[in-house]
Amino acid sequence: MSKRPRSPSEVAHQIASLGVRPGDVVLAHVSYRAARPITGGPAGLLAGLQEAVGPQGTLVMPSSTGEDDRLFEPSATPADPDLGVVADTLWRLPGVMRSDHRFAFAARGPVAPEVTSDPIAFPPHGIASPVARVLQRDGRVLLVAVGHEANTTIHLAELLAGVRYRRPKHCAVLVNGLPKRVDYEENDHCCGRFGLMDGWLRAERLQAEGPVGHADARLVDARDVVDCALARLGRDPTLFLHEQGSGCEECDDAWRSLR
Ligand SMILES: [Zn+2]
Repeated sequence: MSKRPRSPSEVAHQIASLGVRPGDVVLAHVSYRAARPITGGPAGLLAGLQEAVGPQGTLVMPSSTGEDDRLFEPSATPADPDLGVVADTLWRLPGVMRSDHRFAFAARGPVAPEVTSDPIAFPPHGIASPVARVLQRDGRVLLVAVGHEANTTIHLAELLAGVRYRRPKHCAVLVNGLPKRVDYEENDHCCGRFGLMDGWLRAERLQAEGPVGHADARLVDARDVVDCALARLGRDPTLFLHEQGSGCEECDDAWRSLR
């Protein structure tokens, strides 16, 4: 039997039931596939999100490109397909602001200028980044049909904890009007073990869970994400890496940087 489409207002009601209040700053990571059908498609889901935060709230989503060798243009470069169709829909809507660099986030609402105006930084998710601005504004993290593997705020916590693993990356940026390759290092790995956050947050009753559209969603304060991860990283700075030699190439790569 096919599922009945949820209307944007129903989606807004579901998000409110999770605990989002009008005026909130909400950083959303969304997979549309599991949440559908929603009337209006990805734009309908965005309308529901926007209705939930209201005119005084700010909706934020990742909007980076996955193309390392091409210059980023905020008004033209598609969002990384890995971020999903909703993320690639948001930045194209009227009134939405987008950072002017390849680690871009997009935002609409009163806090959008603050979230999107930082210049490019390496590594990308440090204290002057969109995820940090959301944290500083007591924002919330909403995960729709994705787990904490998609929760970029945990990368901020890694940097605040001073983790030392890094993987080599590069991207194209404009320097004095000319495209130039910049090599940098990022606290990156497969992110699979970010899923551990579920157990920790549930044990401390810091995570609300419920449906958004037809999918499971999680809502947690960005501050709680960071504090929860910081406490554990303080005891074990490599706890987010799969064990060495366990077959995860990305985590092995991160381990190698520690030798
Ligand atoms: Zn791994």
